[in-house]
Amino acid sequence: MNPQTVLQDYFGYSRFREGQEALIRHILSGGDVLGIMPTGAGKSVCYQVPAMLLTGITVVISPLISLMEDQVAALQEAGVPAACLHSNLEQQAYFAVLDKVRAGDIRLLYAAPERLLTDSFLALTESVAIGMVAVDEAHCLSQWGQDFRPGYLTIVEFLERLPRRPVVAAFTATATADVRADIKRLLGLREPLELVTGFDRKNLRWIVERPQKRYDALLSHLRRMKGKSGIVYCISRRATDEVCSKLNADGFSAARYHAGLTPAERSQNQDAFLRDSVQIMVATNAFGMGIDKSNVSFVIHYNMPKSMEAYYQEAGRAGRDGSPAECVLLYSPQDIRTNQFLIESDSGNDRLTEEQRRTVKQKDYERLSAMVRYCSLTDCLRHEILRYFGESAPTHCGNCSSCLADTDVIDATVAAQKILSCVYRIAQRGLNCGTRLLCDVLRGKDSKQIAALNLSTVSTYGLLGDLPQKQLEQMVGILISRGYLSVNTAEYSSLALTAKAAPVLRGAEQVMMSLPRRTLTEAARERKLAEMPEFAVDEDLFQRLRRLRERFAAREYKPAYVIFSDATLRALCAHRPRNSEEMLAVPGIGKYKLEKYGDAFLRAIAEYEQEARAPRKTPGETH
Ligand code: ADP
Ligand code: ZN
Repeated sequence: MNPQTVLQDYFGYSRFREGQEALIRHILSGGDVLGIMPTGAGKSVCYQVPAMLLTGITVVISPLISLMEDQVAALQEAGVPAACLHSNLEQQAYFAVLDKVRAGDIRLLYAAPERLLTDSFLALTESVAIGMVAVDEAHCLSQWGQDFRPGYLTIVEFLERLPRRPVVAAFTATATADVRADIKRLLGLREPLELVTGFDRKNLRWIVERPQKRYDALLSHLRRMKGKSGIVYCISRRATDEVCSKLNADGFSAARYHAGLTPAERSQNQDAFLRDSVQIMVATNAFGMGIDKSNVSFVIHYNMPKSMEAYYQEAGRAGRDGSPAECVLLYSPQDIRTNQFLIESDSGNDRLTEEQRRTVKQKDYERLSAMVRYCSLTDCLRHEILRYFGESAPTHCGNCSSCLADTDVIDATVAAQKILSCVYRIAQRGLNCGTRLLCDVLRGKDSKQIAALNLSTVSTYGLLGDLPQKQLEQMVGILISRGYLSVNTAEYSSLALTAKAAPVLRGAEQVMMSLPRRTLTEAARERKLAEMPEFAVDEDLFQRLRRLRERFAAREYKPAYVIFSDATLRALCAHRPRNSEEMLAVPGIGKYKLEKYGDAFLRAIAEYEQEARAPRKTPGETH
């Protein structure tokens, strides 16, 4: 067997994705690797395929029990002998797994890092050869990151204690240079092949909105997504509870997830979501690490997250199977304050010195500023995401809310000068001013705050009174995103001029802006966004195959997508295979799954085609 046939026979895919093959070949030739791939790119295949080919078993180190169990279920379903060891296993089950490993019946053994140095595990490694240690979510090693797991630091000691050092393969979706360096150093990787694959996820549509009423905006998105499965992320436990109960009262099928719930409720809700018996998961960021449900059609952020890293990871849980999916961020400037509060109140990592803690906090604020920039953008969102992660990309993607908006490019130099000089005037008075207040002053608003601060006497008061509030806010947003203004997230989100502003104020630089032609009405906007580039499949057949999949899922008590992903169901609808051979050509169907489910799905498709040809008679026609 070679990597290609393993991929086809067990995973049912005919081609490797970007980066996978190079990493696999390097592993098989005995070299260490560090794979940096965005969520959903297919990291697991990179160690699961070579695990089938190496001499000796593969130990996969993974941070979460739910993640391990999920992966093991999916592997078993594909015919790959896999098992996991973690603290939730009863002693008997634990020893049963150890016996199986000793008997040579297991290829991939998943383990929590805390297991590695236990006596039973070390004893095991003396009698069984380990060919590879794969470290999943390897950024958990880094103390600078949010997901630091002290247990990960024991991996090196574990490696040192092994009779023979195996290949070490590390994987993460975090691309920042300091985290990468940490991983290489702390794992002691030996001249690893370091491979970063493209961060672009073409099937994801990026949308940012600044709704007046968030909940209403959420409802209109969810109505559009009827029948689809998705996640709504909220910034706090309280918001999660509130949004979840409102949605249920409004007739949606939603469950909640956050760290304040009992473990029993958490796992019950998670299971319901994974098995598709609940459609919407409302959750804090506690939910999702290791959830690789492949048919998540949308991820809506009810609040702005703390960083682009966090956002890309959470939003990236949409569309993992390659189907079109949407990532919506509902932004309000108030979110900045909430995030500042979270940064300030974070008790942090006890192992850090005062100095290190300050550095971490400063980095937190920098990350928050980048997030605010993204939310203020009227230029291509995908371009900005990729730029942030160090990739160059075209300035127009055609599949984000900026690129999809009807815009006009206008010369906004004069308005920009007025905005910038207003910031200057307010700063001259020693006052802090955020976007809201700045716009109020420019529009000549008569508010209590303006009276209290005596701002109606600055020379720029009322200079842009003819512009609608929304448009003015957009212009300020553009000036922020282009770097003429900076937002000091550590100081009440106050705005300040940057060096770039000087030539504009002097009249030496022109400022062009693309602005919405008119404020799109909600309905028109919905129509626009509803034009999803879905694969044209027969919806009836799709629903029928879905129900069949659900029956298998319920019978085997497995998440539905472990049986077939939505992408596979769609491909079945498009290809309509008539026999096993044709079925094997469908992406996501390998030999093992063909044997298990092939007949049932072939029969369902055949029945459907027959009915389509000979429409069923209605009772009245029988005589
Ligand atoms: P990651 O761990 O990088 O977030 P996964 O390993 O969970 O991503 O893979 C995401 C999805 O992509 C899974 O449904 C997986 O089966 C699918 N996938 C992986 N490799 C391929 C491939 N070569 N062709 C098609 N689909 C693939
Ligand atoms: Zn775009």
